[in-house]
Amino acid sequence: MARYTGSVCRLCRREGMKLFLKGERCFTDRCSIERRNYPPGQHGQARPRFSDYGNQLREKQKVRRLYGVLERQFRITVREAERMKGVAGHNLLELLERRLDNTVYRLGMATSRSEARQLVRHGHFTMNGRRLTVPSARVREGDVIGLTARGAKAARIEGALDAVDARALPAWLSLDKSQKTAEIVGRPQREEITIPIQEQLITELYSSR
Ligand code: SF4
Repeated sequence: MARYTGSVCRLCRREGMKLFLKGERCFTDRCSIERRNYPPGQHGQARPRFSDYGNQLREKQKVRRLYGVLERQFRITVREAERMKGVAGHNLLELLERRLDNTVYRLGMATSRSEARQLVRHGHFTMNGRRLTVPSARVREGDVIGLTARGAKAARIEGALDAVDARALPAWLSLDKSQKTAEIVGRPQREEITIPIQEQLITELYSSR
């Protein structure tokens, strides 16, 4: 499967904000945004001027990179969001939030979405008692996320879970730290996403295509 293998800190610098792609390093002064908050490349320090299309494109790339979704899958998700009832931009963010890898990250069982994706692919998680290795699988209200026998022994998950404050989780998630299980108790709400995103720019971009 295709995946981005370059420097992920370059992606943050390109978007001009922390996308939290590297786990704990993102919270230290070794973060590239703390050191060099300008776009990478020869002309990175020149003042950028974007057209309307450029702004829409940057917003789309930011969200795609934040959730670690490839272009084709992102386009399919946008189309699905447009077919749903309600505001397409909010629907898009809800669909992205409900990805299994994002859910694992939001639960604090991984320090970044990319780590969550890897842990899911390696078969450390179950959904409703069945082992699931598809990071893009979508969770629904009532689903129960658990760990496989291997997952329960994984030091990375154990370490991440130790640091979780279950009360600080988004309201759509409920975590039982002692049992290492979680339940989806609602739908992700737009206001729970604190990274600044102008989702209407993304839907405008795709509606003009
Ligand atoms: Fe982005 Fe994290 Fe790298 Fe900072 S350390 S630039 S937040 S990936």
